[in-house]
Amino acid sequence: MRIVIVGGVAAGMSAASRAQRFDPAAEIVVFERGDYVSYGACGLPYVLGGDVDDFGALVARTPGQMRARGLSVRLRHEVTGVDAAARTLTVHDRGAGRAVTEPYDRLLLATGVSPTVPDWASSDLAGVHVLREIPDGQAIQASLQDAKRACIVGAGYIGLELAEAMRARGLSVVLLEKGPEVAGRGFDLPSQRRVRAELEKNGVDVRCGTGVTGLTGKGGRVSGVQTEHGLVRADVVVVAVGVRPNTGLAQAAGARLGKTGAIAVDIRQRTSTEGVYAAGDNAESVHRVTRRRVHIPLGLTANRMGRVAGVNMAGGDATFPGIVGTAIFKTFGLGVARTGVTQAEADGLGLQAISVDVSSTDHAGYYADARPIQVRLTGERGSGRLLGAQIVAENHISAKRIDVVAALLHRRASVQDLFDADLAYAPPFSSVWDVLLVAADRLN
Ligand code: FAD
Ligand code: NAD
Repeated sequence: MRIVIVGGVAAGMSAASRAQRFDPAAEIVVFERGDYVSYGACGLPYVLGGDVDDFGALVARTPGQMRARGLSVRLRHEVTGVDAAARTLTVHDRGAGRAVTEPYDRLLLATGVSPTVPDWASSDLAGVHVLREIPDGQAIQASLQDAKRACIVGAGYIGLELAEAMRARGLSVVLLEKGPEVAGRGFDLPSQRRVRAELEKNGVDVRCGTGVTGLTGKGGRVSGVQTEHGLVRADVVVVAVGVRPNTGLAQAAGARLGKTGAIAVDIRQRTSTEGVYAAGDNAESVHRVTRRRVHIPLGLTANRMGRVAGVNMAGGDATFPGIVGTAIFKTFGLGVARTGVTQAEADGLGLQAISVDVSSTDHAGYYADARPIQVRLTGERGSGRLLGAQIVAENHISAKRIDVVAALLHRRASVQDLFDADLAYAPPFSSVWDVLLVAADRLN
């Protein structure tokens, strides 16, 4: 059995490890076009901001460690073609500068996503970046050495995390967002406004409703971002306007894409092409609240899909349970989290949804350092089904209680089920009626 995996980060390496554990006799080969495998891209903003010492700290396992475990890991090898009928791949060995043909019995496409680069951002100017992989982070870090003004385009997850990192490095930061508010993806207006206030309190110049038209440069280096509302001067520009799934190999293999544009897979991570699997950011998943196919590319999803694919490719039987759209990020002092659907998303889906907003403290008000926490809880009128939650907490770690709601959403629980939950209480941790319970009580 020859299992070949394309892409050696979250989904790819999870699959390789599981497949090997399931079938130690299988030959497992990982092709990675980049210089790194098995690292946490999620840590990149924290290296840039100085919370994590260096990029090396993000690497979970080196290729050497994986080879010692019997996995064949080939860096700087880009897979450029698939012949699904012959079960072969064309692989470009960048080091040797030649292409080779490689056979497979089972193939996993764990190729991730690529940052969206609008036409105006396709530039040779130094100081213009995207952030996806370790070399992107290293390039941004190099540009920051002599930079004073940063402009970040896109106030989504990456833009928000980077704004904090760049302020921590002492730069002035302008954050440009095309949409009407920051954190547009997956948050309702009250959460978005609170995030924006936090950015502004920390010196970020936030400009929403601002489309970008071009870049300006001087001496080969970027000098500004041209917007509909004038020029923003900048020595370093990061474009973080979203991602698109890498589906070229899947299409070459004849595999079907879903309506989201990502690769369509079944619950065993099989594509529509026999012997070809897909897992991670490049693949769709089923949303357990809406029962729709979605493309929500996140780290745990990628690792979990990879595990499932690994077991199945090695002859086992594992299934991916679907997701409920849980995500969390930190921006300066705030922890911001969401799960399920927002009121706006529920309205868009035609659900009869209702939301309540509750402000409280993250633990007993009389105990030291009680910090404000806001919860928005969304449920379905009539059925009483829990639909989603958003949390904005001034003690960032407190936003992690979103997991209580996420776990219940997985079981299609009701608002009453949340209210009935026996949650932990002692004054340093929560109020006797935790803010989630108060919100469930109000929504009931
Ligand atoms: P990727 O990590 O994109 O890996 C795919 C790999 O495939 C790449 O290394 C690529 O070089 C390789 N590849 C592609 N095509 C080929 C080819 N033809 N031949 C050979 N190799 C190929 N998620 C969270 O849940 N929480 C977070 O806090 C978080 N923070 C993030 C911060 C940043 C800055 C970024 C960029 C992402 C963050 N994410 C976060 C998302 C998370 O990193 C991804 O969900 C995860 O890395 C996806 O793993 P993957 O294996 O599917 O794809
Ligand atoms: P995103 O989809 O989260 O946000 C992109 C933002 O750019 C949106 O607000 C969008 O309105 C805006 N935008 C789009 N075109 C624009 C334009 N021309 N000008 C100005 N603004 C524009 O994408 P991202 O921030 O690039 O992050 C990519 C992916 O990385 C995410 O989908 C997520 O999977 C992952 N990520 C997750 C986390 C986390 O979970 N904490 C952190 C970082 C990254």
